[in-house]
Amino acid sequence: MSDINWQATVPSWLSSAFLRGILITDIDMRIRFWNDWLETHTGTPAAEAVGCPLRDLYPDLTERGLLRHYERALVGETSRLSHNAYGYLLPMPAPGRPDLTQMPQDAQIGPLRADGCVIGTISTIEDCTGHDELRQEDTAKSFLADLSAELAKSLDYGATVQRLAQITVPTLADWCLIDICCEGERLAAIAHVDPARARLAEDRYRTQRLQRHQDEQPHMPEQPLLITRVTLAALSLISTDLETLELLRDLEPESCIAVPLKSGGAQIGTMLLARNSARPAYSLGDLALAEEIARRAAMALENVRLYAAAQHARALAEEAVRVRDAFFSIAAHELRTPLTTLLGRAQMLQRLIAQRDEPDERSQRTIQIVVAQSQRLNKMITALLDVSRIQTGRFSIDPAPMNLTTLVRRVVDESRLMIADHPIRFQSPEAPLMIDGDELRLEQMLQNLIGNAVKYSPGGGQVSVILSGGEGRAMIAVADQGIGIAPDAQRQLFQRFYRADSAEAHGISGMGIGLFVVKEIAELHGGEVGVQSDEDKGSTFTVRLPLRQL
Ligand code: ADP
Repeated sequence: MSDINWQATVPSWLSSAFLRGILITDIDMRIRFWNDWLETHTGTPAAEAVGCPLRDLYPDLTERGLLRHYERALVGETSRLSHNAYGYLLPMPAPGRPDLTQMPQDAQIGPLRADGCVIGTISTIEDCTGHDELRQEDTAKSFLADLSAELAKSLDYGATVQRLAQITVPTLADWCLIDICCEGERLAAIAHVDPARARLAEDRYRTQRLQRHQDEQPHMPEQPLLITRVTLAALSLISTDLETLELLRDLEPESCIAVPLKSGGAQIGTMLLARNSARPAYSLGDLALAEEIARRAAMALENVRLYAAAQHARALAEEAVRVRDAFFSIAAHELRTPLTTLLGRAQMLQRLIAQRDEPDERSQRTIQIVVAQSQRLNKMITALLDVSRIQTGRFSIDPAPMNLTTLVRRVVDESRLMIADHPIRFQSPEAPLMIDGDELRLEQMLQNLIGNAVKYSPGGGQVSVILSGGEGRAMIAVADQGIGIAPDAQRQLFQRFYRADSAEAHGISGMGIGLFVVKEIAELHGGEVGVQSDEDKGSTFTVRLPLRQL
């Protein structure tokens, strides 16, 4: 046996691979070949190792139960030893890793044959330092990428919490328990690799326990906690009461991590990840990953919460608007009947007073005010009813061929009679401007615009109504020299109930519905409205309407 050239027995592909250790023993388990890699990593020169019985050089191989793999190699069997299960074959310091006591190794021990006969053993050793970290890093990266996408899928709080628990199993944990208390609502989610145990735990924790302790805050360790070997004492650190302690114990955690879930700086709950005995214990790397998961999960949960709050606020606001609209509509209808009677009677009285032989001036003035104010009130109620009709799609026009010039002139003339302190200039082309229009609605629209021009010019000043036509359209412009409108407000003027700050600032009252109705009337005619204004200088409102096709 001693005349065998042991070096020559090493397969050529192996001897050229300097990145691993190669160890050959003879049939008596005496070391016969010890390559450079082993010299470098063990610090034992080949001259010292070769000739030495393996069990003498490494007595712990017997203690650690590894020598039996050499014995099996001598009867022709090959063993693969993974660093995950055995740690290392031969004790060596880990290169560049003072934090690791021994270099983790993957090893293979097999028979060495010559002419079909086993003449010894050959083992190869690979350095696995950093393999786990690398693998872990990859897992962590892809896990976090999936996590963010998964958590963004639902906008339901409970579903997101449940999803979070499920995602961690089995990649990071054999089971996961999340307990959260958000805005007074207690939520728990449980996931387990074994669905039957998940159901059981769910039933015990969520259904039975939480229902009885809804108002109770979940037990929340404030700092991240890594428990590499779970004991009863360690479990009590993360359990509120005996019931939870028992549940956790029954789930048989071997190692676990508890991380706080925070929202807006405040802790809202805890995520508990646990592994059972078949998996390696959690490391500091796992803890860091769990903290990152908790950070992202808390962010996703905060988004879901904000979304829900926004939805709720929106629903409340919509409901408030609905109630307001309903109120306006009912109030307007209810007010209209007595007002019509009141106005009719006042007008009758006005006529009776006027027919007297010697009408008393004071009574005449009084009844005139009563009629005028009743008419004003009537207009306001009509406007409110219009808004309600627009909202419910019941606002319509009854168009017929008409001369717009005649209508505008008449409205201007009538306005002149009523308005004393604002001269109204009117300008129009010679030729009639024919349109298909609803006279009553267009009159209402013009009265509104002229009325606004007067109302929002408290200092007086001329109001101009200019009618023009061209390119198939008629244009009515109503211009004043009043308070004007800020650019920001101009964009919102035609919205329902909108009033510009300048109106309030000048103490000019109104309901903010006139322009909304003006816009609707113009649009029902196939036209459009516009405004151009400079603050403190005046405003020009324009309405464009399609001319009648000849
Ligand atoms: P109201 O006049 O009853 O408030 P409107 O719908 O007619 O309602 O007008 C909406 C808002 O537009 C007014 O509150 C006012 O701020 C502004 N506005 C309308 N017309 C003028 C104008 N000619 N000059 C200045 N501001 C105006």
